[in-house]
Amino acid sequence: MPKPTKTDLAKYKTILQNQLASLRGDVGSMRDEALRASEQDASVDHLADQGTDNYDQGFMLGLIENEEETIKLIEEALERIDGEGDWDFGMCPMCAEEIAEAKAKNAAKPKTAKKAKKAKATKKAPDAWIPKARLEYLPWARYCVRHQEAEERNREIA
Ligand SMILES: [Zn+2]
Repeated sequence: MPKPTKTDLAKYKTILQNQLASLRGDVGSMRDEALRASEQDASVDHLADQGTDNYDQGFMLGLIENEEETIKLIEEALERIDGEGDWDFGMCPMCAEEIAEAKAKNAAKPKTAKKAKKAKATKKAPDAWIPKARLEYLPWARYCVRHQEAEERNREIA
């Protein structure tokens, strides 16, 4: 996978900024609504009504939480685009780690100069860039699909 170009980065930045603005707006109005609902709760002591309101509020709070999670991911992605993130935008840090480990292992193995030259010529260097199709669909993706799935499995176990 090629590294994202400057043009790509500018495009992702615009998408991310628009997404961020709209999500922040959503969360703001959902918060207002949840607040109104809880104010109504305080004034209405009808048990049945309270039950539904609590349900709606729980549902709303869940939505707010999800959107806040996405907002965080978008903010991190924007930091990566600006070069202030923990890694380069468009790169899967776990792939980068795997490549670094493989390189360290190879370096530890003694090799003749001839062999090393041949390996360099025939083997395409592995890279850690996330496929463009994935970034276009999900510009705030932190990992490639394989590592995203691994990460989600880990979270389910934890
Ligand atoms: Zn990866």
